[in-house]
Amino acid sequence: MNLVKIFSMLWILIGLVETFAPIANAGQDPVLENELARAAMEFKVPYLLLHSIARVESGGEHRLPKDEDPRNDRKSPPSYGVMGLRNDAWFGKSLLKSAQLLGRNSDDLIMDRKTNIRAAAAYLRSLAMEEDARGGSISMDAQTALTKNLLPWSKVIERYSGIPGADAKIYASEILAAMAPWNPPMVEAASQQSPPIIWDPTPNHSGRLHPRFIVIHTTEGPYATAISWFKNPESAASAHYVIRGDGAITQMVDDDTVAWHARCWNDYAIGIEHEAYSTNGSGMTNALYNSSARLVKMLAEKYNIPLDKDHIIGHDFWETKEFLSTPVLGDCQDHNDPGPYWDWRRYFNSLMENI
Ligand SMILES: [Zn+2]
Repeated sequence: MNLVKIFSMLWILIGLVETFAPIANAGQDPVLENELARAAMEFKVPYLLLHSIARVESGGEHRLPKDEDPRNDRKSPPSYGVMGLRNDAWFGKSLLKSAQLLGRNSDDLIMDRKTNIRAAAAYLRSLAMEEDARGGSISMDAQTALTKNLLPWSKVIERYSGIPGADAKIYASEILAAMAPWNPPMVEAASQQSPPIIWDPTPNHSGRLHPRFIVIHTTEGPYATAISWFKNPESAASAHYVIRGDGAITQMVDDDTVAWHARCWNDYAIGIEHEAYSTNGSGMTNALYNSSARLVKMLAEKYNIPLDKDHIIGHDFWETKEFLSTPVLGDCQDHNDPGPYWDWRRYFNSLMENI
């Protein structure tokens, strides 16, 4: 490596640190930030793009297959590693394609975070080159790692997700917007405005609902991925609502109809999925809590559901003592979302406030 090359790499590294210092400082894992930055430089893809994908796909957590909870809500195929690579019939084969690009075994991508990130970066670069060959205008030079303009990468992001059809655009728009720190501070003022509810129906529903409870879930993956999976008739899974980290709400099943989110509780329960991770609490933002609380309050009023812990319950409620005093629900549950990081005290405070 000649001196010019060394100098130019150093310059880019310094530039990355300076440009994204606020993000790096707020990062939950400086080693992860470093791995993302190095992969961005190596494969000439935007650091910010890798950062956003890691945040949205996994909450920055490189989960190994043994950590994947087979009881996950959506019965969805696993996503692999911090960058959410895929290997299934619905979301595609990004794991195998990226392993091939890197000349590595897919097990290496699954087990090793750094390799997972490098493979994802290589895959993004190959998708960008394909888009350019089709007339796209993505420049990939030494400065690309620094760029903040991800807009030209929209199509690449859609394809990276593997999400079929137009739902991939929901994914891309979230990645483009996910430029905030990993865990936004919990100090923002509660907005008085309820976000509009987007109606995006799923065929996965049945019968008439008798709402007595509201069940709180976490998606353990991206908002768009959950929405897409719920539209797959083969998934046999759904929820009434899915809430994005920034508070946006999609409704997929009518309030009066049974959605398929909590087995024997389904006939009595409205299900709300939250884009967050039960394993590390990532995504449990102020905006998410507030948006959910406003929605639950509205539903509770509509169906006369008391705002207490016997009626606003976690999908992991079967693990608690209260469960024993609510026999109507039946003991069919074995899920553990929203998990120990869900701040019930804060959530009930929001429910009680006049928000
Ligand atoms: Zn759940």
